Amino acid sequence: MQSITAVGDLRSLVESWRLADRTIAFVPTMGALHAGHQELVRVAKERADRVVVSVYVNPLQFGDGEDFDTYPRNVAEDAKALAGVGADVLWTPTEADMYPEGPEGAERITPGPIGDLWEGAERPGHFAGVLTVVKRLVDAVTPDYLVMGQKDAQQLWLVTTMLETQAPSLDVVAVPTVRDDDGVALSSRNAYLSADQRQVAQTIPRALDAAGTAGSPASAVETAKRVLQSEPLISLDYVALVDEDSFEELPPGSLARSGRMLIAVRVGSTRLIDNARLTFGQ
Ligand code: AMP
Repeated sequence: MQSITAVGDLRSLVESWRLADRTIAFVPTMGALHAGHQELVRVAKERADRVVVSVYVNPLQFGDGEDFDTYPRNVAEDAKALAGVGADVLWTPTEADMYPEGPEGAERITPGPIGDLWEGAERPGHFAGVLTVVKRLVDAVTPDYLVMGQKDAQQLWLVTTMLETQAPSLDVVAVPTVRDDDGVALSSRNAYLSADQRQVAQTIPRALDAAGTAGSPASAVETAKRVLQSEPLISLDYVALVDEDSFEELPPGSLARSGRMLIAVRVGSTRLIDNARLTFGQ
């Protein structure tokens, strides 16, 4: 695997691949790579001849008081995690390459109304930052496939929707959430949890499982809330059930046969999100 920093070097390499008729898959990440990211790379390698993984902690998607400064950064460890899973290039862009005008001056891509809900309501400006960086990363890599995790379901929906108009020939590949043995979704932010908090985090997949057996949209939401609220060390940000195609909230009386349940909580000062597809009345 090759490591590249300068965007010009990346573009030259991509051009040489194109001349040789190679297909390209791209996996954007913020680093602190874990088995979830590794799974994205494996899926990417199944799809395409060449795989580019970027590691870039994007200042635009962090709000004031969020963890931009403390977000775990260790490129040497990331390179090790990528060895043997199929990545051809680890690209670590510089801020000057991503935002030549400076992050503050960058023109943002606005996500539309769904971007103001759920994660967007809790983190104003977050998705504009995400869409802006993904568009710039994709413009540099010009991949055939963009491989992303369902772990960040709203992000996946917003990016897919943006690229339908901005890069219609690009195929977005969604990879199911990779979980630890205790059911907790792998996340770089799990590193912030103490052993006790880690136990508490298991309440989240338990709530999703319980909601999955509830039988109807209204009781699914109630059930998940009840499970989460029974754990005093969890502070609930939101539980929502959304239509998978439109990402709009399913009303409690909905007769929908399926939906995606979104959960966001705080355990101590760590914010954790998770989601699952639920089916009803089958
Ligand atoms: P991040 O580095 O957290 O910005 O995530 C980079 C990509 O990895 C995103 O597409 C995430 O959805 C995906 N990802 C993060 N955690 C997981 C997981 N546990 N399973 C599958 N994909 C994941």
